[in-house]
Amino acid sequence: MAYATVNPYTNEVVKEYPNATASEIQKALENGNDLFKRWEKEQPTHRAEQLHEIAKLFRQNRDYLAKAMVTDMGKLYREAQGEVDLCAMIADYFADHGADLLAPTKIETVATGDAQIQKHPLGVLMMVEPWNFPMYQIMRVFAPNFMVGNPMILKHASNTPGSAVAFENMIKQSSAPDASLQNLFLSYDQVAEIIADSRVQGVALTGSERGGRSVAKTAGENLKKNTMELGGTDAFIVLDDADIDSVTDIAWRARLYNAGQVCTSSKRFIVAANLYDKFLAKLKENFANVKPGDPMDSQTTLAPMNSKRAKDKLQAQVDDAIAKGATLYYGNEKIDLPGQFFQPTILTNVQKDNPAYAQEMFGPVAQVYKVNSDQEAIDLANDSDLGLGGIVFSGDPKRGTKVASQIETGMVFVNNFMVSLPDLPFGGVKNSGYGREMSSLGLNAFVNEQLIVTT
Ligand code: NDP
Repeated sequence: MAYATVNPYTNEVVKEYPNATASEIQKALENGNDLFKRWEKEQPTHRAEQLHEIAKLFRQNRDYLAKAMVTDMGKLYREAQGEVDLCAMIADYFADHGADLLAPTKIETVATGDAQIQKHPLGVLMMVEPWNFPMYQIMRVFAPNFMVGNPMILKHASNTPGSAVAFENMIKQSSAPDASLQNLFLSYDQVAEIIADSRVQGVALTGSERGGRSVAKTAGENLKKNTMELGGTDAFIVLDDADIDSVTDIAWRARLYNAGQVCTSSKRFIVAANLYDKFLAKLKENFANVKPGDPMDSQTTLAPMNSKRAKDKLQAQVDDAIAKGATLYYGNEKIDLPGQFFQPTILTNVQKDNPAYAQEMFGPVAQVYKVNSDQEAIDLANDSDLGLGGIVFSGDPKRGTKVASQIETGMVFVNNFMVSLPDLPFGGVKNSGYGREMSSLGLNAFVNEQLIVTT
């Protein structure tokens, strides 16, 4: 069966799930569309109460939800707990602000009469989500669209079905309609069929460039609005006046959080020449200090990767990078544990003709580059087909911001970690995709902004 929970720490096959049948899919579309027709006529105020209730259920079931994620994909338990808290925060945010953000707005016009934009739901949405943040990724789409009034069908990653079921259980336990989020275990062909259905009016995908291209093609052929949140090779730029101690303390965590499996993980460290040696030495020390082990153990600081497939792919990338001239500065040794662990690894001397220069390495591997000027740092950061996020460190925040504004990505943080919060838009440019999730921008992604002119 395609959908299965295989615990990446123990390698145990915990549970397998059969694919949805054709009649289950039709029923889900019908239920979703019936709910859309009902929601179209209602104000979002009642939904705000239900969304607060869902946030409360997330907090009350923190342990159950966090364990589902740990079992599915191996993340550290405390990081999973943090993810549940973030989900509750996102739900509360859209419950508090959704109705105001969806209120009609007046337009000053030379036309005769009063012009306004009203915001209406579009219809059923198809949501395709990845395994790396198995609950947060769903909530990012669910909470705003619940307020808008778009019912959703979820296709989660095939290795995180337990998290999909646990998330859906929270909706079922609440007084929100079951059809607001329906999880189905779908093949790619079934996803394409759903996208083509006239009751579906939007598609939101977070995942790889490959998956994004395929689903966006189907959405395009069927003229369905879509948002694509794809990969990143985010730069972590250290300018020559940066406070190296605080930078190095953030650097290792920016790479190793969630075992390095974050689209906005810092993947390319671009460091001013005067700080390069110290940065490298400190990064190595911090990488060497991590403790791999049971993700449920509070002493563990390095989780296994989510699957054998993901680990094997990363291993092949690292081996190829080294074979083609990169220097192995640290790591790439086998960790003697049964789970899918990958030792934190540092590569230097990655030249432009090395495939690794352009690749996203979705695990605990850092590439470190030395540069001689701000401009060189900017040019190197921008020499990528991906454009998701990035971080710039400088002792002078104005200088840092000036550099940040020249980075070709959807998001840049100056002098801090990249964080995802409900009031900040999230998304990229170039092959990292298009559209934004979260904030008012995310709320408006699947809205019919209807013009009404009354004379
Ligand atoms: P995939 O694209 O393989 O999987 C993501 C989701 O898309 C899964 O549910 C997958 O299903 C589904 N999928 C893939 N291809 C198709 C298709 N043709 N039709 C329908 N569904 C499809 O990504 P990975 O598992 O490799 O996830 C990691 C990637 O996601 C990284 O590149 C990462 O950067 C990116 N990502 C982007 C984020 C962002 O916000 N920009 C956030 C997190 C990750 P299945 O599991 O069944 O294959």
